[in-house]
Amino acid sequence: MTDKILILGAGYAGAVVANKLAREFRRSIAKGDVEITVLDKSEMAVNQGGFTFLPFSLYTPEDLIRSKRELLSPRVNLKLGSEGEVTSIDLDKQQVEVKGGSTYNYDYLVIALGARADVNGVEGLTDDLNTFYTSVEDSLKLGEKIRNFDGNRIVVSVSRMPIPCPGAPVKFSFLLDSYFKNVLKRDDVTISLFWPMEPIGPPEFNKMVTGKFEEKGIEVFRNFKLGKVDASNKVIESTEGEKEKYDLLVTVPPHKVQQVILDSGLSDESGWIPFDKSTLQYRGSAGNHDNVYVLGDTGPMDVLKTGIGAHYQAMVVAHNLANDINGNGIKVSYNGETGCPIITDMAAPSKDGKAYIATWSYNLPPDEFDTTKLGWYMYRMYYYIHWDASIKAIL
Ligand SMILES: Cc1cc2nc3c(=O)[nH]c(=O)nc-3n(C[C@H](O)[C@H](O)[C@H](O)COP(=O)(O)OP(=O)(O)OC[C@H]3O[C@@H](n4cnc5c(N)ncnc54)[C@H](O)[C@@H]3O)c2cc1C
Repeated sequence: MTDKILILGAGYAGAVVANKLAREFRRSIAKGDVEITVLDKSEMAVNQGGFTFLPFSLYTPEDLIRSKRELLSPRVNLKLGSEGEVTSIDLDKQQVEVKGGSTYNYDYLVIALGARADVNGVEGLTDDLNTFYTSVEDSLKLGEKIRNFDGNRIVVSVSRMPIPCPGAPVKFSFLLDSYFKNVLKRDDVTISLFWPMEPIGPPEFNKMVTGKFEEKGIEVFRNFKLGKVDASNKVIESTEGEKEKYDLLVTVPPHKVQQVILDSGLSDESGWIPFDKSTLQYRGSAGNHDNVYVLGDTGPMDVLKTGIGAHYQAMVVAHNLANDINGNGIKVSYNGETGCPIITDMAAPSKDGKAYIATWSYNLPPDEFDTTKLGWYMYRMYYYIHWDASIKAIL
């Protein structure tokens, strides 16, 4: 009997699970005892974390994009394009269908389909959509607008939670501040961050960034959920009716799960997929399924959506799946390990960059910290080892 593992999505989480299991089961795969199939609609992998930096030319598109065929182990049965685009998931029948018409059965299923920006989720948003949250192309276009900016007020608006990497708009605001200081226009520009909640991250994170915002003269408006964009008058309006003017609007659109998750009835009333917070096994509206794991941005509303978290989750699931198939019963748990690499200063020829990778877990918030020059170098380096260390599941 062959143990069939089916992985939906070869983004950050799906690729790590696939590569770790392919290494773990290399002999069993060769003997035909284990089969790993990975389905993804896209040929190319994109490191979305780099979108934040593209407007400031800190990375290039080539740094952030790789072919999935090169990243995934050759031991994996990889289906991309319409043969990999998932159109239906039936947990009772243990069956998945793709756009190309094929059907896949499994013994173990890993759902790692990420999240998508819902640009129609806010009235008027598409009339003036400038964002680094959707694609390489949109990030580059935003960079062009920042370089040509001759108005006064740049508004960075985070529409509502949850979004992938809530720290990204925070570091984007600090990068904007550094950029305008470096081109000697900072006094002419007002930078305003509109945030949909009161705290920005866990208490020590909130304290650190609040201090830096004050120090750098970045305005922060909390509890402002974006309700409407009036592009002709350049005004944003909160869901409570407060109005603010802008010259350039940068938005983080609302996010939701992929359509196939909704169509297959797998999400809960929050619109996301619930899992057992320790084992990551499916616990949604389609019942409890111990052979189905949910990873990364697709996961529950209240579990932070970060690449760092997706990586830890992928390692836990790969470990537990391997032990289950090997029959030794050893399980490890996910304890909410996640993190947020924060940047407060971008380097320039005469200035140091400063960053820090704050990490925490469910019940262990980060201790007091500050950004450092070493943190900046670590962060800059990370994007080059992402593909060969993180995605290959070596780290
Ligand atoms: C602007 C930005 C900045 C960020 N910065 C950071 C950061 O600094 N640090 C950090 O830790 N995280 C960061 N993140 C978050 C991080 O990128 C995500 O949390 C991570 O990519 C989630 O991994 P995932 O595997 O769940 O989803 P993804 O990596 O998005 O992968 C989902 C995969 O599913 C595929 N897919 C979707 N629908 C279908 C379908 N119907 N059929 C088949 N395949 C499908 C997609 O093609 C994709 O390959 C950032 C995100 C953004 C947008």
